[in-house]
Amino acid sequence: MSHFRSSFAAQFAPVRVRFGVGMRRQVSEEVARLGCKRALVLSTPAQADAAMEMAQEIGDLAVGVFTRATMHTPVSVTEEAVAHARAVNADCLVAVGGGSTTGLGKAIALRTDLPQIVVPTTYAGSEATNILGQTEKGEKTTLTDVRVQPEVILYDPELVRSLPAGLTVTSALNAMAHAAEGLYARDRNPISTLLAIEGLEAFAESLDRVVADPGDLEARGRTLYGAWLCGTVLGQVGMALHHKLCHTLGGSFDLPHAETHAVILPHAIAFNARAAAQELEPVARIFGDPSPGKALYAFAKRLGAPMALRDLGMKEQDLDKAAEIATARPYWNPQAVTKDDIATLLAAAWRGDPPAF
Ligand code: NAD
Repeated sequence: MSHFRSSFAAQFAPVRVRFGVGMRRQVSEEVARLGCKRALVLSTPAQADAAMEMAQEIGDLAVGVFTRATMHTPVSVTEEAVAHARAVNADCLVAVGGGSTTGLGKAIALRTDLPQIVVPTTYAGSEATNILGQTEKGEKTTLTDVRVQPEVILYDPELVRSLPAGLTVTSALNAMAHAAEGLYARDRNPISTLLAIEGLEAFAESLDRVVADPGDLEARGRTLYGAWLCGTVLGQVGMALHHKLCHTLGGSFDLPHAETHAVILPHAIAFNARAAAQELEPVARIFGDPSPGKALYAFAKRLGAPMALRDLGMKEQDLDKAAEIATARPYWNPQAVTKDDIATLLAAAWRGDPPAF
């Protein structure tokens, strides 16, 4: 089926992407290629060893490590990191990790314009976007800015091998959500649609294999390929109800990022399938059920994903408040959104039931 549209706009960021087993060892070549000599390596505390290894790999071109990246990019941590980058006179950033570490690199780049090399270790896809979410005084805000877009991405399948099975599945569903919502985005273009379909197919054909054998490098490579494609879709087009619900649940109720995406995805897609059945046809085809929402529900369940918001710490009495927040300032969505509908959707997601719509 052709993805031709009679009218569209498309924009592509000038990002250099290299992909392959062992690719993390090419970082010093990329630092030099950027004309830089003083790289600051970033990670979360849990991945400090990976950051140290990376600094050793980079050798004389590395000036230090900063290992305090935190989920949701608190501005207080960014300010410490910017002070550290200035103190060591860094001229580029090397982020080794998932969305939290990439987020810190982006937040530093916003304030310093330092170039970024990202070496992703999850499927979140932040490395492929010019979007930054930051938290200050308990509030998460999102901005887009050209300085935030990483210049270089090095994808190394060996680095996702250590992702535990649970995070592998939830992080993959997080990536797939970018593609699924990209299919019906108002500002989609033929290339974003092609990327979304190929990204979903990459996960559909490899995620079972990765869960069965986390060390299967060929399958890991395919999932990372899917993450790149899905992240690129996120960087190109606007997201809708699914992302609004996840931002609400993460931002206002502190639910964990990837797990929340995993639970909500089938429900949001089932809700929107009524208005975007044709756009979501690839989801139905790839995941083997005429209903795209049910197809994703079955896929997530088979892979052992968390299925219920109550298991993520969401309180039943907060569901009404969540529905209110999510519908107060809604993102554009193909299906009209009412508070009652969202309350019904969230109730099913809270219990872990199949999609209500
Ligand atoms: P994360 O980066 O917080 O990683 C989760 C945990 O897993 C961390 O403790 C991390 O150290 C660990 N980890 C990461 N990779 C590992 C590996 N290979 N082996 C073992 N442990 C590993 O989580 P995430 O889901 O990648 O990112 C979530 C954050 O990214 C959120 O703040 C979200 O808002 C943001 N995000 C932003 C964008 C964007 O475009 N701005 C896109 C997606 C996600």
